[in-house]
Amino acid sequence: MTGNASLVNLFDLDRTAMEAFFAELGEKRFRAHQVMKWIYHRHVTDFGQMTDVGKALRARLEERAEIRPPGVLYDKASADGTHKWLLGMDAGNAVETVFIPDRGRGTLCVSSQVGCGLNCQFCSTATQGFNRNLSTAEIIGQVWIAARHLGNRPHIERRLTNVVMMGMGEPLLNFDAVVRAMSLMRDDLGFGLANKRVTLSTSGLVPMIDRLAEESDVALAVSLHAPNDALRTELIPLNRKYPIAELMDACVRYLARKRRGEAVTFEYTLMKGVNDAPEHARELAALMRAFCNKAQYADAAKVNLIPFNPFPGTRFERSDEATVRAFQKILLDAGVLTTVRRTRGDDIDAACGQLKGQVMDRTRRQASFRRQLEKGERPHAA
Ligand code: SAH
Repeated sequence: MTGNASLVNLFDLDRTAMEAFFAELGEKRFRAHQVMKWIYHRHVTDFGQMTDVGKALRARLEERAEIRPPGVLYDKASADGTHKWLLGMDAGNAVETVFIPDRGRGTLCVSSQVGCGLNCQFCSTATQGFNRNLSTAEIIGQVWIAARHLGNRPHIERRLTNVVMMGMGEPLLNFDAVVRAMSLMRDDLGFGLANKRVTLSTSGLVPMIDRLAEESDVALAVSLHAPNDALRTELIPLNRKYPIAELMDACVRYLARKRRGEAVTFEYTLMKGVNDAPEHARELAALMRAFCNKAQYADAAKVNLIPFNPFPGTRFERSDEATVRAFQKILLDAGVLTTVRRTRGDDIDAACGQLKGQVMDRTRRQASFRRQLEKGERPHAA
């Protein structure tokens, strides 16, 4: 047999799929639930240790399935309590996951793709190109690794309280796997997180925001970073396809399907001399006010200002502290809920926009192969 290719990795199955898998084995639903509790509540990956599951069933599970989390290549703790893992997904590919403890809550920043294809100009992940989507197992596996490390027990000790899909990749371009993983994060048989404590962040794929509203129930964050199309297109090429007005309308539709009182978070990374002038703040305030009017309630928008985190080779710089405060004040004075994200974990390159992992970039590699061939060189793998 060629390794594990024929085994079902149970981390790939949400509750519905687990129940279907057990039904196929001729087993009752509650057996699926027992196994989920072993996996997610007790962090057990060995069927042999599942003492309330009969021996015969354990043996059949071993023949058909496995419980395989991503491998930890290394983990690193920051002086401020932030913790980063580099998780190996397959040969040459690895992603980063970051845990950020903060006054009674703990947020895990989870990756959705190996690399990213969107090419946002100020993001370190973009410099690496794109390799592939992560599977459900590889996404929920990140939460599992962190929860195991933290000794987390849902309902007993809630140190991991929030998940944000703000790691490497664009989660809406890996829709199905991300939605399944987010369902496991919120399932009582999984990590039992409240819906509003799981946040998906997107650079603004309008049609997929509508699909998300239909198929999942999580908090939405949108990476805005500029108050007008000319500047946003420079920073985020995707804006050419889905300009700000269309993006705002999709966010209004998203909120319309949710419980009243929830907000969309707009992320705005402040870069010195690029998007941090008082006029930008005023333009952003007007955009947010118009959005709240359309959504028909005040506080439908929250702005989260992120001081830019530098990485090697970037042409951007972080705005000064005073500029950040002045920018925030203009928004607050205009009645827009605005917070400033504290920079965490930058001593271990774990801050927003600094995640790199390890990406075997297919597109770029192929291009460099071609160039080498054209120059008559013998190509070598990256
Ligand atoms: N692709 C999704 C998920 C990634 S979230 C999205 O764009 O929303 C990562 C967040 O960090 C985004 O808001 C992103 O714009 C922001 N970010 C990227 N690079 C950054 C940097 N160098 N400094 C600060 N924030 C950055």
